[in-house]
Amino acid sequence: MTQNGTLIDSVYRQFDAASAAIRLPEDLRRHIRECNAVVEFRFPVRVGKRIEMYTGWRAEHSHHRKPTKGGIRYSEHVDADEVRALAALMSFKCALVNVPFGGSKGAVRVNPYKTPVDVLERITRRYTAELFNKRFIGPGINVPAPDMGTGEREMAWMSDTYDAMSQSDLNSFACVTGKPVSQGGIAGRTEATGRGVFYGTREAMSREEDMKKLKLTPGTEGKTVVVQGYGNVGRHAAQIFRKEGGAKVVAIGEWNGFIVNRDGIDLDALEKHRAKGKSILDFKGAKAHTKDPSKVLEVPCDVLIPAALENQITTKNARKLKCKLIAEGANGPTTPDAEAILLKRGILVLPDIYLNAGGVTVSYFEWTKNIGHIRFGRMGKRLEAGREHRIVQAVEKATGKTIDETDRAHFGKGSDEIDIVRSGLEGTMIEAYGEMREALRRSKRIQDLRTAAFAVAIKKIASSYDSLGIFP
Ligand code: GLU
Repeated sequence: MTQNGTLIDSVYRQFDAASAAIRLPEDLRRHIRECNAVVEFRFPVRVGKRIEMYTGWRAEHSHHRKPTKGGIRYSEHVDADEVRALAALMSFKCALVNVPFGGSKGAVRVNPYKTPVDVLERITRRYTAELFNKRFIGPGINVPAPDMGTGEREMAWMSDTYDAMSQSDLNSFACVTGKPVSQGGIAGRTEATGRGVFYGTREAMSREEDMKKLKLTPGTEGKTVVVQGYGNVGRHAAQIFRKEGGAKVVAIGEWNGFIVNRDGIDLDALEKHRAKGKSILDFKGAKAHTKDPSKVLEVPCDVLIPAALENQITTKNARKLKCKLIAEGANGPTTPDAEAILLKRGILVLPDIYLNAGGVTVSYFEWTKNIGHIRFGRMGKRLEAGREHRIVQAVEKATGKTIDETDRAHFGKGSDEIDIVRSGLEGTMIEAYGEMREALRRSKRIQDLRTAAFAVAIKKIASSYDSLGIFP
């Protein structure tokens, strides 16, 4: 519980505001809002000579599409309400970006950074076995993925445990996404959420009329960026904003402090520094601040990316932020009361259910790859390469000129899996932004992008029930 309530309160308030704006009938409202099923279980795991009890959850919010989908969080502070709220966000996120899954989320109450790897492995395998026995995992039932405190390694353990238990399930790789590429994963999944944050922000910043209101020129080039949280989401987002967007990352925050360099932090040098196992706070290329880590949010910038925990932007600091745009990489970083202040101050908020949907989008690609049993690009790559080659030859022949080597490097190679994944993600983020922006333009009752995002998502979920004839 923070100063501005819990995450579940925030999600319900956001949902209620959007349902009212689209005049969703009360029965449908109740049906869509509530979490359909939550399991909570305790299980024993050997830790040295002792037996420790752990608590795990898996929530399935909506079954309008199958399977249900969402990450597994390992954290000391997690509880059932948080898991339910995060599962609900997954339903709306998937609907918004046209990923045909219901929403789910799971968690284990454990500190993954203080737990030995062998214990984490036993916890993960036992947790998977519990989900299996309760029918809360399976390629057509419920498909976990990484979230805070978990990654490729945990997904590989889950996939292996499921495979052992399901015996001859041909699609067993599709029981979980975010796996290592060598074990049924897909190229580009690790960077996907951070890359989606970039594509979504770039799309928003390309609209001249919207940027004018923020007193910004269109585009990400030369803009200043602050990132709170340098985990999987924040790190990739920062790097892509700099390399592909030409932006300047001026501050990075972690749980124990933050670093600032107004000229832009050299992220390649920072990577080398971190590779030696050192904290970002000891990095020579920036000034460290350790007194109040949350103050990173108040560093002046154009784009602020909260990519850490929920409830970071509250009524306590909303008036102190010095950014033009908030790009929500984390789930639920802004409380509704804080958002009201931000909107009054003219700050544009790109909502989590849109902006961090890149992870689940590429998870969807991974799942289809697993179900299809074929790598993207395998069938068409050579065909494309041949066609591109012939086009180059025809252009050279017709013009009598030779295409130079740098240009030629782009042609004649066809698309690899990574090219297809990135292009699919980019298209998804652009399309969803268009839908959201259009909802905002068309309805006077919708005044901000979050309400627009929820409205678009809720309408899609509601119409999927209609098509089943449940609500004649
Ligand atoms: N945990 C991520 C999220 O919150 C990814 C979920 C998934 O890929 O299923 O969106």
